[in-house]
Amino acid sequence: MNQPAHIANFTADNPGMMTLQGTNQYIVGKDSAVVIDVALSSDGNMDGIIEQAEAMGVKKIDKILLTHIHIDHCGGALALKKRTGAKLGIHRSRAGYLGGEDFRYDDQDRIPFGGGELQVLHTPGHESGHCCFYESGDRVLFSGDNILGYGTAVIHPPDGNMTDYLQSLERLLEFNIDLILPGHGPLVGKPEAKIREYLRHRMMREKQVIDALRKGLNTIGDITQSIYVDVSAGLQRVAEFSVQAHLEKLIRDERVKREDGRYHLLGQ
Ligand SMILES: [Zn+2]
Repeated sequence: MNQPAHIANFTADNPGMMTLQGTNQYIVGKDSAVVIDVALSSDGNMDGIIEQAEAMGVKKIDKILLTHIHIDHCGGALALKKRTGAKLGIHRSRAGYLGGEDFRYDDQDRIPFGGGELQVLHTPGHESGHCCFYESGDRVLFSGDNILGYGTAVIHPPDGNMTDYLQSLERLLEFNIDLILPGHGPLVGKPEAKIREYLRHRMMREKQVIDALRKGLNTIGDITQSIYVDVSAGLQRVAEFSVQAHLEKLIRDERVKREDGRYHLLGQ
């Protein structure tokens, strides 16, 4: 499915290992529009968003929404607010984080834009205040960093939480989604398959963590090395966060205990 005409993306010039080609900044609306995520405060980024909106026939950017408060999603929010006079919204749990917010939103809130409305879905996991925005008219989900165009989302404890993340993914399966517009990378045309693939991938990782524990490996470093055999040094840290997130989930599930920084399977 193609992107509906009232939605455009201006990708921020912040490419990188974690941001892929850069952060996608979506403009949603007709006469008046909402912008979802603003990565950079540079004039070039502001100009890019505004010119893209004008090219769609948008006369006013009247709201800015944030999927979450990581810097590559909110770093330019105050600058765009200043430049356009748009009202800046943030998830209730992050009130005051940026200063200068005009409104707060929470799960199930509906936020109108010119030509439709976005439903807020609080989807913690990648970040505890993370939200996706669902447009039921066109069955489009703005997924933030919960689901990416390719690769997998980073779960970085303690704020990142694997239990919450898996629940958030499961919940997204309940929605009728034709198209996912992610925070990074290309659009996802087969949402359900992608979400199920993400769930399967995490279950596979969890099983690998359990297998490593069973073999007697008991530190995050050793478990990570046994699972991620050929990752670059940069990705090694990310892999360790992921293993830690799985271990913390297994502790909550009462399948693993931690003692003196070492992890052990329970009932062994
Ligand atoms: Zn991001």
